Amino acid sequence: MIKGNPLLEPFDTAPFMKIKTEHYKPAIEEAIKEAKEDIRKITASNEPPTFENTVEALEFAGEQLDRITSIFFNINSAETNDEIQKLAQEISPVLTDFKNDIIQDPELFRKVKEVYKQKDSLNLNVEQSTLLDKKYKMFKRNGANLDPEKKQELRDLDKKLAALSLNFGENVLAETNKYELHITREEDLDGLPKGVRTAARMLAKEKNKEGWIFNLHYPSYIPFMKYAKNRELRKELAIAFGAKGFHGDKLDNRENVLQIVKLRHKKANLLGYPTYAHFKLEERMAETPEKVNSFMEELLDKAKPAAENEFKELEDFAKDLDKLDQLQKWDAAYYSEKLKQKLFDLDDEQLKPYFELNNVINGVFIVAEKLYGLKFKQVFEVEVYHPEVTTYLVTDENDNEIALFYADFHPREGKRGGAWMTSYKSQYHQHDKNERPHISIVCNFTKPTDEEPSLLTFNEVTTLFHEFGHALHGMLANTIYPSISGTNVFWDFVELPSQVLENWCYEKDALKLFAKHYETGEVIPDELIEKIKDSATFHEGMATLRQLSFGMLDMSWHSKDPSGITDVKAHEDKVFEPTQLFPEVKENCMSTSFSHIFQGGYAAGYYSYKWAEVLDADAFEFFTENGIFDRETAKKFRDTILSQGGTEHPLTLYKRFRGKEAAPEALLRRAGLLPKK
Ligand SMILES: [Zn+2]
Repeated sequence: MIKGNPLLEPFDTAPFMKIKTEHYKPAIEEAIKEAKEDIRKITASNEPPTFENTVEALEFAGEQLDRITSIFFNINSAETNDEIQKLAQEISPVLTDFKNDIIQDPELFRKVKEVYKQKDSLNLNVEQSTLLDKKYKMFKRNGANLDPEKKQELRDLDKKLAALSLNFGENVLAETNKYELHITREEDLDGLPKGVRTAARMLAKEKNKEGWIFNLHYPSYIPFMKYAKNRELRKELAIAFGAKGFHGDKLDNRENVLQIVKLRHKKANLLGYPTYAHFKLEERMAETPEKVNSFMEELLDKAKPAAENEFKELEDFAKDLDKLDQLQKWDAAYYSEKLKQKLFDLDDEQLKPYFELNNVINGVFIVAEKLYGLKFKQVFEVEVYHPEVTTYLVTDENDNEIALFYADFHPREGKRGGAWMTSYKSQYHQHDKNERPHISIVCNFTKPTDEEPSLLTFNEVTTLFHEFGHALHGMLANTIYPSISGTNVFWDFVELPSQVLENWCYEKDALKLFAKHYETGEVIPDELIEKIKDSATFHEGMATLRQLSFGMLDMSWHSKDPSGITDVKAHEDKVFEPTQLFPEVKENCMSTSFSHIFQGGYAAGYYSYKWAEVLDADAFEFFTENGIFDRETAKKFRDTILSQGGTEHPLTLYKRFRGKEAAPEALLRRAGLLPKK
């Protein structure tokens, strides 16, 4: 035991204030030693292997290591710096080695396999049976049945892949931070709302510069594209945004992309799968690439005519308004916003005063209370990794502790873009104790300025509900084993709890509870709510095509042998053809900054957003049939889905909730692509 390392002393909540960067590596090394000792006890035992002494023991081996690595990697996403990034480069291969040591331990596999063979005579309950399947498959899918030479080959491939993905992500972050659009003439801000100007002025001030600065982080980039009248500057910023990792310099990601897809394909073949997508989809609700592709084709068929009409309408509108000869990608958000204003007389700036961040947070808390009886109390004694992080104790109606909840809302230099939910501790049962989870959401919402509190766009409101939906999945988990608890479910099922919660943002009965003007306290008027609903499906056809284009790009990289692909951009252009409405931009490339599939875990899984939309629309129709705050329906959702994690196949869980499988019609109705019921 290394003295004075807070990560190696017992802790319940993560000891953020005591952790120094130099603590991580020795702590992880020590925790690996302990985990190895746990495993050694399993393999060295002379007892015949049983579910308890083998499968369950394996499930709980290396608990401390899980805690420490989740802290480290969460920090590397939310509050990183060069030093931590460098450390991640060192630590990742060490962890991959350790994971491979377990997975390729022949004695351990022999014992698990022996238990697996007796599965039917062991009288296991559903959750135990799922855990056993999962553990056995973990070995099988990681090459336990391969000969030693091929096992080594697999280890080398995994190591290379981990390093490549990390480097891919670092390049994207460096590209994002490197660029700034420095504006010194006030007329170049024409069209931009006051809050956006103030934020840009503050950014310039931070860098001791005159004027205004815009960058490639969403809160800066999105409003500029939406409102800036200066078309040349929109073009400049849009091209910079779309060219991340595509400059032919040392941050270029093209070679990383090609290497990653080739090595992934090789890995799949080695394990006996035709492609990487086949390998990934074996453990998904969608099951095969064929099913995924036909699912996307069907949606494309239904959405394309609507998308083309929308595009034509937008083009005519831009022509009328500004005599635009050709609508370009950097015009899309700007004219969409203008057209939306004309049709609905509704813009983000009108809505934002009703969505002050604290009101919205209270809003999700009220919704969670009405549905699930949860209460949230801010606590101050829990350590945080940055002063902007807020913590809450979550309890149920009987004051039982349900979870600890961390919320981190604003962009910072060391935080990656986007919004996500994560956890510092999983829920599980051990020694007759129900260990409650520590859940976190991390976002990049507009920061408060000297003049205004943090006012969210409606899109940010739905993002908050979305991440909070994931958080509920984590918080309400109630299983025995941590590896199948909470959000540890199949990838194409994980977005159901998050996306379903977004539906409450469009409901009058929900909005009236929290959408109050930050200055006057006035409740959002009915007329605005109607407009939010009416405009919700505005340009839904084009949005669907965009989502499908990403899903198709992902599948194109992973569902065929990629060895013939040498030109990333040319490949991408071809794949985008059926979904492309705007002229292609030669300076831009999507794949080189497509972090979801090349850094995160969405490879052969991007379709899952649409897949889950089918589920969430179908599930929400069930809520609307019974009333959106109906406690019985909510209880059913909690009992059959939210609390169950991955204890059973998602199809089984879903049918238990809904009484039937999800049909795509509810989504098409909601999207306005089919008539409403
Ligand atoms: Zn999500």
